[in-house]
Amino acid sequence: MKGNGDRIGGIAGWLLLLAALSCPASATPLAGRDYLVTGAPTSEQAPQRHCTPAMRAGLTERVEIPAPPGGWSGAPQAINVFNIFAGEVRVHHGDREICGRMHDARTRDSRFRAGVGMVVVPPAGNREPIQVGWETPLKPGWIPTVRIGAPSPVQQFDTARLLVRTACVAIAIALAFMALMGFLSTRDRAFFGYTLLCALSVLGQSVLSGLSGYPEPWLPVDGQESRWLVAFSCLGLPVLLYVMWLLVGGPRIWPATRRWLPWLTAGLCALGLATVWLPPAGLSRLATAMDAGFVIGCTSVFALGLALLRRHRADATAALAAVLPFLTMAAMDLADSGLLIEYRVEAIQLSITWFLTVSAYVLNLRLGQLRRQRDEMRALADTDELTGLPNRRAGLKRLEQHMRDARAVDDTLAVGFLDIDLFKRINDVHGHEAGDRVLVAVAATLTAAVRDPADVIRMGGEEFLVLLPGIGGATARARLEAMRSQVSAAGTALGIDGLAVTASIGLATLAAEDADAASLLRRADEAMYRAKRAGRDQVVDAESVHGAHH
Ligand code: GH3
Ligand code: MG
Ligand code: MG
Repeated sequence: MKGNGDRIGGIAGWLLLLAALSCPASATPLAGRDYLVTGAPTSEQAPQRHCTPAMRAGLTERVEIPAPPGGWSGAPQAINVFNIFAGEVRVHHGDREICGRMHDARTRDSRFRAGVGMVVVPPAGNREPIQVGWETPLKPGWIPTVRIGAPSPVQQFDTARLLVRTACVAIAIALAFMALMGFLSTRDRAFFGYTLLCALSVLGQSVLSGLSGYPEPWLPVDGQESRWLVAFSCLGLPVLLYVMWLLVGGPRIWPATRRWLPWLTAGLCALGLATVWLPPAGLSRLATAMDAGFVIGCTSVFALGLALLRRHRADATAALAAVLPFLTMAAMDLADSGLLIEYRVEAIQLSITWFLTVSAYVLNLRLGQLRRQRDEMRALADTDELTGLPNRRAGLKRLEQHMRDARAVDDTLAVGFLDIDLFKRINDVHGHEAGDRVLVAVAATLTAAVRDPADVIRMGGEEFLVLLPGIGGATARARLEAMRSQVSAAGTALGIDGLAVTASIGLATLAAEDADAASLLRRADEAMYRAKRAGRDQVVDAESVHGAHH
């Protein structure tokens, strides 16, 4: 009774502690039984970020969105600006002027999350255009897009784009953790490299998508956005190309690259990091050159993959699949595709996600291959080649396992140490090959006589060990006697003229003083030698021998 009460009291205490821990400290007294209110009332007006002269000074580009033919309707207009990676975005109409920036969510209208968005309400009949201004992008390829419409659909669309961006980052984080676990379990460097690749892509994608500004900047990107972006692409593109080279099986085709290509990649990455100090004009040229180099690299990998499709199908297919989205983007770029211009960030992120997924697939194939290799090597290391029996190494492990099991139950375990009699003579008279056939036949006979084939071990030469778990003295002796005559019969069955096979067997049963397998084996071995001395072709029990001595 008392014990039960104590236990219930303990559980209740733990539950109370859990409840206390899960209740946020900021919970107000408003918290009732069925609901919880957190936070505190505010006295601030709705946040409205006005533009300062310093903000206006950077705006080198301006777009005017004209009023419809009959003038503005008086309905609110949402303006959502994408692909402005650096500086302020300004929306201006009449006496309303708002500024915000991509990499600091605190400066932005919280109804827009992927692009920098604002809502203006031009008076009905007004014909003044809405002005949108921004800083000239560093790369000519980064073409800003502006979407205008009713606030609700524009916001929903903006949120959908944020979800795609977040999902891509989340997938990269998950893949990084998976690869890290792969590395911890295999210690294979490829997994570690892949973990780093995923981590790099998480940071790069966060900067590209503006997630690094949520809920407030957690990377020191703000103010240096262009440099960060160029640095990430200069860091990431060589690594991507290098991984593509690995995927297509490059090192196998051109082994010399194993030595210098990693260093070349590292050098290019270092160059990429150095972009942080370049002046803007150099930065822009470097970014363009890197993009061109990347497209050339992708095209080469693609061509190589096509050429290899016949010979190394799996590798080539994976490489082709990994490269395809990047090549598609390059082609769309050449065609000046409006779709790519509008969804460039999502296109890049989805391509990276696809690339990481294909690489993870290839890495998993590698993991399977490593496991198979390991299993094969383990099997080879544990098996005797001639007879297929477990060898001494594996046999000792097996014996130790049986000893542990026996100790846990009733201490019953017997072993028989079998040595073929005058085997040297069999070799001499009938030839080494006949000797081998005898060994194989004896192995098969013994294996057939036990419940689990793993309990017959070739200890070396013409010596075998038979494990009899759960079998005691008298029964063990009978079993070994039976095996002895079966071995003789098997020798005769070989049909070699004048060949007679006999064996001497030493029997030992597990005793309380047996600390390890060696002591049990030693007694079985001694008993076997006594059998030899007593005239061979017999089973001798280690205990009875001792008994005879005392
Ligand atoms: P005893 O009755 O005293 O055991 O005599 P024995 O000739 O069997 O004893 P010994 O240990 O001197 O000889 C074992 C021989 O087994 C020596 C070796 O040439 C032969 N042998 C060892 N391994 C193999 C093998 O894999 N194949 C063949 N054919 N012979 C082997
Ligand atoms: Mg021997
Ligand atoms: Mg022998």
